[in-house]
Amino acid sequence: MFIFLLGIVNVMKARGCKLIIKSSEEQHLKKFDVIVVGAGTAGCMTAKTVADAGLEVCLIDRKKKEEIGNKVCGDAIGRHHFNRLSLDYPSGKELERTMVGITVHSPDLKTMVHVKGKGLYGFIVNRLLFGQRLLRDAINAGATFIESTQAVEPIIKDNFVTGVVVKDLTSKNKTKLNAQVVVDASGFSAVLRKKLPIEIGIETNVDQKDVAICYREIRELVEPIAEPEYCAIFFNQKVAPGAYYWIFPEGAKKVNVGLGVSMSKGFPNPKNQLYNHVLSQPLFKGSSITSGGGGQVPTRRPLDRMVGDGIIIAGDAACQVNPIHGGGMGPSMMGGALAGKTIIEAMERRDMSREGLWLYNARYMQSYGAKQAGLDVFRMLLQKLSDDDLNYGMKHRLVTGADALKASMGEDLHLNITEATRRIFRGLRKVSLLKELRRTADMLKKVKTCYNNYPTSPKDFDVWRKKAQDLFEKASG
Ligand SMILES: Cc1cc2nc3c(=O)[nH]c(=O)nc-3n(C[C@H](O)[C@H](O)[C@H](O)COP(=O)(O)OP(=O)(O)OC[C@H]3O[C@@H](n4cnc5c(N)ncnc54)[C@H](O)[C@@H]3O)c2cc1C
Repeated sequence: MFIFLLGIVNVMKARGCKLIIKSSEEQHLKKFDVIVVGAGTAGCMTAKTVADAGLEVCLIDRKKKEEIGNKVCGDAIGRHHFNRLSLDYPSGKELERTMVGITVHSPDLKTMVHVKGKGLYGFIVNRLLFGQRLLRDAINAGATFIESTQAVEPIIKDNFVTGVVVKDLTSKNKTKLNAQVVVDASGFSAVLRKKLPIEIGIETNVDQKDVAICYREIRELVEPIAEPEYCAIFFNQKVAPGAYYWIFPEGAKKVNVGLGVSMSKGFPNPKNQLYNHVLSQPLFKGSSITSGGGGQVPTRRPLDRMVGDGIIIAGDAACQVNPIHGGGMGPSMMGGALAGKTIIEAMERRDMSREGLWLYNARYMQSYGAKQAGLDVFRMLLQKLSDDDLNYGMKHRLVTGADALKASMGEDLHLNITEATRRIFRGLRKVSLLKELRRTADMLKKVKTCYNNYPTSPKDFDVWRKKAQDLFEKASG
C-alpha cells in the first residue's frame, strides 16, 4: 500500500502537477474536490473545466499516460463541436484530413445521397494525438493525473458517493480516494455507474439492443479513394443488422473501415461481417492492415438521470452518443464541460447532493440530449426497415440530403412526400412505409419537445419520466 501511495506521489511529481500530498498517511485522509474516473474525451474535458476554476481534481485512468486517446474509433468529428467548446481545430499531425460531408449509400448500392453543409464540416483526427492534447490541457489547467490505476468501485456512505476504491495495476495494491464529487467518465464500461445502489436513482444497466458492437481496421489501399472528402456510410440489414458499415478516408490511400451491428438477439460477429462483405470488395484488393480492433458504443437517448448524491456521469457512461451515426467524441466533451460547470456552481453553494447537481441533466438535454432523443426515435425506425424499404425510401428521396442534414443538426425531420411519391408508393404497395415514416416524424417532434422541457428540479422528474417512457414505448411499438 505504502509503495502504491508513494507511486502516486511520484507520478504527480514526474508530471509536474500540483503536489498536494506529502505522506502516505495524509494521502489516505486526503479529500480531493473532484475525482474523475477515465481520461477519455469526457473525463479530460470535465477535469480541465473544474481545474480551470481552481478546484483540486484528480483524474485517473487504467491506461498509461502515453496510451491516453488510443481508442478504436471512426475518428470523425464535426467542426461545430470545436466551435461550441472554444477548442482549437486539430492541426499538424493531429489532423488526418478535413471533411465536407457524408455520403449515405442504400443497401443495393444504387442510391447515394450526399449530405453536406456547414453543419457537417469536420475532421478525421489522429485519435491518439487528439486524446493526448485533451489530457495535456487538463494537466496544464492543474489536474492531477494518475495513470495505470483502475477504479474498482464507488465508496458510498448513506447513499452518498464519497470516493472511489482504486487499484494500482502495477503493484496490484488497492486504496481509497475521497472527494466531494465523483465523476464516472469511464466510457462504455461505466465502472461506477454499474455498481451504484438503486437508491441513488441512476439507471445502472443499458439494454443490449441499444448497443452497437463494432470492428474496425485502418487500411492502406492500392488505389486512391473516390471522394476522399466524404465519410461514406452504408446501410445494409444483412451485412450490418441494426447499424451500418463505414469507409472514412484518412489519407489519399488510407481509410478507417469498420462495421457495427446492433447487439440484438443472435447478432453476428462484426469482424466476420466486415471480412466477408466489405473487405472482400474490389476497393480493398491488395490493401494492407495497419491496425484493427473492436469496441462497443451505446446508441440511444441519454440516461434519463445523470446525477445522484455526490456523483455525475458523463460521456459514453451516460449514453451521450448520437444514436444514428454513433459519434460520441463531441457530445462527450460537451457533457464533460457541462458536468464541470455544474460542479463548480455546486461547490460554490456547498451542495453536492442530487439537487445541487441536478441542473447538469437539464443543461445536457437542452444542448444535445433532446436532439439525441429525437434521433433515437429515428434509429428505432431505421432498425425496423427492411433493405427493400431502405432502397425504395432512398431511391425516391423520401428524406433529401438537405433534410437529413437539418435533422442531424437537431431540426425536425421533414419528409419529402409529394403526390407523385404517394402514387409511386401506392403502386409499390409501400403505403405502410409512408405511414410509418409519418408516425416517426411526428414522434420525433414530440420526443424532442419532451426532452427540451426536462425538469429543472428533481421534484418534477417522475412526471417527466412517465411522459418520456410513454413516448418511447409508442415509438418502439
Ligand atoms: C468502433 C467505434 C467507432 C466510433 N467512431 C466514432 C467516430 O467516428 N466519431 C465519434 O465522435 N465517435 C465515435 N465513436 C464513439 C466515441 O469513441 C465515444 O463516444 C467517445 O470516445 C466517448 O468518450 P468517453 O470519454 O465517454 O469514453 P472513452 O473515450 O472510452 O474514455 C474512457 C476512459 O476511461 C478509462 N477507463 C475505463 N474503465 C476504467 C476504470 N475502471 N478505471 C480507470 N479508467 C477506466 C479508459 O481507459 C478510457 O481512457 C466510436 C466508437 C466505437 C467503438
